[in-house]
Amino acid sequence: MALQQRVLIAGAGPVGLVAAAHLARSGVPVTVFEAGPSLSEESRASTFHPPTLDMLHELGVAKAMIAQGLKAPTFQYRSKKHGLLAQFDFTSIADVTHHPYRLQCEQSTLTRILYDQMRGHPNFELQFNSAVVGVSQHVSSVEITIDRNGRGEQRWGRYLIGADGASSKVRRALGIEFEGFTWPDRLLVVSTPFNFHSVIPGLTAVNYVADPERWYFLLQIPGLWRVMFLVNENTSDERVQTREFAQSLMAAVVPGISDYAIDHITLYKVHQRVAKTFRQGRAFLIGDAAHINNPLGGMGMNGGIHDAVNLAERLSAVCCCETTDAELDRFDKQRRLVTMEYIQKYTIQNKRNLESSGDEFGRELQAIKENPARTREYLLRVSMIASLRRAQELG
Ligand SMILES: Cc1cc2nc3c(=O)[nH]c(=O)nc-3n(C[C@H](O)[C@H](O)[C@H](O)COP(=O)(O)OP(=O)(O)OC[C@H]3O[C@@H](n4cnc5c(N)ncnc54)[C@H](O)[C@@H]3O)c2cc1C
Repeated sequence: MALQQRVLIAGAGPVGLVAAAHLARSGVPVTVFEAGPSLSEESRASTFHPPTLDMLHELGVAKAMIAQGLKAPTFQYRSKKHGLLAQFDFTSIADVTHHPYRLQCEQSTLTRILYDQMRGHPNFELQFNSAVVGVSQHVSSVEITIDRNGRGEQRWGRYLIGADGASSKVRRALGIEFEGFTWPDRLLVVSTPFNFHSVIPGLTAVNYVADPERWYFLLQIPGLWRVMFLVNENTSDERVQTREFAQSLMAAVVPGISDYAIDHITLYKVHQRVAKTFRQGRAFLIGDAAHINNPLGGMGMNGGIHDAVNLAERLSAVCCCETTDAELDRFDKQRRLVTMEYIQKYTIQNKRNLESSGDEFGRELQAIKENPARTREYLLRVSMIASLRRAQELG
């Protein structure tokens, strides 16, 4: 296939590489342009939901991921005031997924496994140190400018996928608005090898702890626990990232323990934004380039992977002449709507729930637990299976 027939992808994060692997395996040549000198090792997403694992299984990478991750079939809500509010178990939806658990595993594990699997594939090419900085569209091609060591170079392809993260140059070059807002508080992630199982009886690998003063969530990944806190705007970025400040937050987790071994402290801004459209002509936005949200519920990367698979299926059908270009509009219709209806709505609701004392939230969780139909509906929603079903219904 001529160079102009390739699909160009900006960004070799988890979402761009899933799109690339899907397309290349379906017979569509892809070139991925990555701004960095290598794959990012940044510690961010660590939860893979059941339907995402089903998709990764289709790509042939789930087994390697599972071997390096931690299966978490259960998760808990707690509150400082009431203790354990409720525990849920994905095993009860094992009839609709091959992976009835969350997999606790770093997103960098996925990108490494995908890259190792795809390098050498005849349809796959990845160029590092190649930031996409400009986009222009023509009748039958899309043209991009890449910055290679300070020199601008042009590349042409049939379609372009912007998977270049929250500050997407592709989105900006297309002039697509990123509507929404930024929370005034920031997210502090503290990683520790401390074994919380040894001091909190009955703890699971995924735990959300509500408190109006200082809520947090505790996530276990292989070899580490990550504790995430929201910090208000009154403390400077510099102060928040000191060990002393991190220890002061950690001291609230288990009474009497105040001197944790700390591996990493990372501070993030938290946004809720969705691009006004996910398609403009021959260019598409997926993953954080298209939508960002707070990490409560672990839906950002998972939703991005769902975008990648939805778009790659349609693009490969169009590139292999099985359907027409009009099919591609369905990607924008389906994925943008479920981003608004599920990812944005429930991540904001999750934050509000954790900011509470757990009185009303605890009663709501108990009502769900006591009703098997509601429990199932709830698990289908938090696992993101319901959002994928909703997308299908939209046709
Ligand atoms: C603390 C934290 C915890 C989180 N936990 C979860 C979780 O458990 N589950 C979940 O689903 N989500 C989670 N998220 C969100 C998740 O990390 C993101 O949604 C995910 O990284 C999005 O993947 P992406 O590939 O779209 O973008 P990115 O991971 O940002 O990757 C974009 C890539 O594009 C490259 N790039 C940037 N600009 C350019 C350019 N101009 N040209 C070429 N390349 C470029 C970057 O170098 C990068 O490699 C979390 C986020 C944070 C901050």
